[in-house]
Amino acid sequence: MDTNKKLFILFVTTLTLFAAAIMINAAVNFRNYSYESAIDKAHMAAEIVRDGLTAHMINGMMDKREHFLDMMATGNGVKKLWIVRSENVIKQYGEGLKSERPRDEIDKEVLRSGKEIERFYEDLDTALLRVTIPYTASSFGKINCLQCHNAKEGEVLGAVSLEFDISDLREKGLWTLAKIAIITLIFIILSLIAVKYLVTPYIRFFKRLEQSLKRAKHGDFSLKVQTDINAKDIKAVAKRYNEVIDKFNKTLGRIEKKLAIFLKGSTGYCEDPLEKATHTIDMLSDIHRFKNTIELDTDVNQIYARLASVIERVISPQYLVIFDIDSEKNSRKVAFNSGNMVPCKDNSLEKADLCRAYRTKSTVFSDLYPQLCPAYSGKYRYYYCIPFEITPTSSIVIMMLSDDKDSISMYKKEETVLMYYLENSKPVIESKILMQKLKERSVRDGLTGLYNRKFLEEMIENINSQANRHKTRYVVMMLDIDRFKMINDTYGHDIGDNFIKLLVETINHEIRSSDIAARYGGEEFIVLLHEATAEGAVKVAEKIRYIFSKITVEAGEKRISSTVSIGISLYPKNSNNLREAVKFADIALYKAKRGGRNRVILFAEENLDSDSNSYLFEDSAPE
Ligand code: GH3
Ligand code: MG
Ligand code: MG
Repeated sequence: MDTNKKLFILFVTTLTLFAAAIMINAAVNFRNYSYESAIDKAHMAAEIVRDGLTAHMINGMMDKREHFLDMMATGNGVKKLWIVRSENVIKQYGEGLKSERPRDEIDKEVLRSGKEIERFYEDLDTALLRVTIPYTASSFGKINCLQCHNAKEGEVLGAVSLEFDISDLREKGLWTLAKIAIITLIFIILSLIAVKYLVTPYIRFFKRLEQSLKRAKHGDFSLKVQTDINAKDIKAVAKRYNEVIDKFNKTLGRIEKKLAIFLKGSTGYCEDPLEKATHTIDMLSDIHRFKNTIELDTDVNQIYARLASVIERVISPQYLVIFDIDSEKNSRKVAFNSGNMVPCKDNSLEKADLCRAYRTKSTVFSDLYPQLCPAYSGKYRYYYCIPFEITPTSSIVIMMLSDDKDSISMYKKEETVLMYYLENSKPVIESKILMQKLKERSVRDGLTGLYNRKFLEEMIENINSQANRHKTRYVVMMLDIDRFKMINDTYGHDIGDNFIKLLVETINHEIRSSDIAARYGGEEFIVLLHEATAEGAVKVAEKIRYIFSKITVEAGEKRISSTVSIGISLYPKNSNNLREAVKFADIALYKAKRGGRNRVILFAEENLDSDSNSYLFEDSAPE
């Protein structure tokens, strides 16, 4: 119910109740007044009748009393008047007139009790008041009753009954009530008119205020309130209110513009600009924190793990994979995987451009064509892949998987948020990648990509203590190309370099990913074989030696080949530490050289200075 209706009902009800209260009060008072004035009249008449009868008695004119009583019974609203004698008076003076006998029970009761009785009779047409007043004997008044009556003090001598017609009074009362009702009605109507003209503008004002506040609640601060009320305070309220929403409107507009610059014209999720601004500020603050956090991260893998946790928090994909792509090598590796599943075919790691998202530089959603990307091999039905270029040589692809198409649509919606994170973190990720590359370069050899000697020497201590703790076995293999100086001198440095690269390729091909290979010097290499046996190590070394010896390199018009000598020592079997193992491998290598080159020698303590323990494989193919 609106205020207008409420006020109307309140006014009408209040005034009606007020009028009803006044009318009831007036009616009761009027009735009491009529009643009491009739009783007063009755008392007066009773006194006159008593005095008149006494006078008749004293003057010996009792026989004329009937005329007197008839006179009294006319006028002054008296309808009937009669007197009755008590037994005492009848005894002394006889029964008197016929009309002086008790006419009803009231007469008898008053004679008996000596107490006045009043009765009110009312119907639609008439209103009657009957009063019966006793006359009691008294010796103290102007007249001493006991002089003539044989009665005791206070004894009932008779009674007078009077009937008054009070219909006129009742009619007057009803008229008065009708007048009050009419006046009240006029007053109600006038009040309603006054309410309409005085209160309606206020109600209108509050309605406008309410409308404006409703819009403001939804972020629209454009509706100002106008008022035609000529009251100072209301005008001041309207002015202040308009100033406040105007300020909100302008400030919000400015905030929106600024945020749009930050977020590149995003529309966000919610319509309410205030909520949108709050949401955007929250997001900016999250991105800022994310940026600050990743700045202190040690490497890009940590950053990718953190990015994954943001994606899981903001988007919650069923399955998430982040690929790190090296454009120079056209290769990619899994930087984050939320489970154990292999999401893409193996060959797509070596050939990054098999990844459709990376190749087309656009998002890939498999909703219509399940085989959209040739690289995908995951078990989830739908995939959604977002590529993002960090530097011209480094990109990432964020892959979100689900069996539910609608979920993917949800991920798609959140892509904008993800892009804010990536765009804003891009410089940090870029610098981390650069730093990582620099660090990599400082530990790796430029020609072969293997770890350099400096790094190996730093690392060998760590590997040693780790191997001690975990009781891990290592085999140290030292390789040196035979008569390399001669190749350089005869065919040139480039040909020499080619042999170095080919030997490294051969080594890389034969060792496992847990093994560590390093370039120890010019054409000298060290390989640490993790958890290898002497037999296993000799087999690997022999394979390398054999394969390398079969490789030919074009040098001018002919094809030339080279050989490699390999020394092997075991840790902890032969040595106390890895450094010592390197030294013993060098001794074994020296023995291989001295033994005629192109051979594998396993270090043996008892033969430290002897030429035995030499294995010569006369160019026979290893098993
Ligand atoms: P040995 O069979 O006894 O090992 O004889 P060698 O000639 O291989 O031995 P030496 O250590 O005397 O020769 C190594 C040569 O390797 C000397 C150096 O000029 C050359 N060398 C070192 N680093 C590189 C490199 O990066 N590229 C090329 N092409 N040659 C290199
Ligand atoms: Mg050498
Ligand atoms: Mg050499």
